[in-house]
Amino acid sequence: MNIGVYGGTFDPPHIGHLILAQQAIDTLGLDRVLLVPAFQSPFKTGSESLSVELRSEMVALAVSGNDRLDGEYHEAQRGGVSFTVDTLRHVREKQPDDTLFLLMGADTFDEFHLWKEPESIIALATIAVAQRPGVPLDLASHPYGSIAQLFEMPQIDVSSTDIRKRIHEGRSIRYLVPWAVEVFIASQGLYREHDA
Ligand code: ATP
Repeated sequence: MNIGVYGGTFDPPHIGHLILAQQAIDTLGLDRVLLVPAFQSPFKTGSESLSVELRSEMVALAVSGNDRLDGEYHEAQRGGVSFTVDTLRHVREKQPDDTLFLLMGADTFDEFHLWKEPESIIALATIAVAQRPGVPLDLASHPYGSIAQLFEMPQIDVSSTDIRKRIHEGRSIRYLVPWAVEVFIASQGLYREHDA
């Protein structure tokens, strides 16, 4: 099977994440995509994120109803700083016969050469990158530009930062996150006091 591994903070998961995952399924011929909430991203200070338990719950709600999407909670359970290379090794061990694709948006790919063991990552998975509004993607000058596989997605100018800000300001997030995630956020009173 072709498996997409899609890491993020998912604080909260939004339609940009889901559309990216579904487009990867459709255009790269993937059988499944695993959304992997990071315990703590090496590039984001963990202190202002919601707990990994709450973010994992929201990921589970976001993927429910699409049998090609799943949450993968290895980073959440392991704790500490989350490195993609470790996660890919974990998936590879569990599913040795599958072909892995590592999915990301253009802003993440911009930093890819700074990650832990990028060479090991590209030996484990094909890097698949989607464009993101406001993020110019210059593959010619990127150290890993020649090995990245671009895939198309409708451009969605939504970020988790934007969602948190809207909630903080009392504005609507309807249709920007899946319905079940919106209900969960409201019922738990999430992000109202949260710094965007
Ligand atoms: P934040 O605003 O908190 O930084 P985010 O919206 O960028 O969050 P993440 O969970 O950090 O969300 O993103 C996980 C992955 O999804 C990253 O690879 C990112 O590039 C990609 N991504 C997120 N939103 C979009 C979008 N609207 N279009 C394309 N890619 C996206």
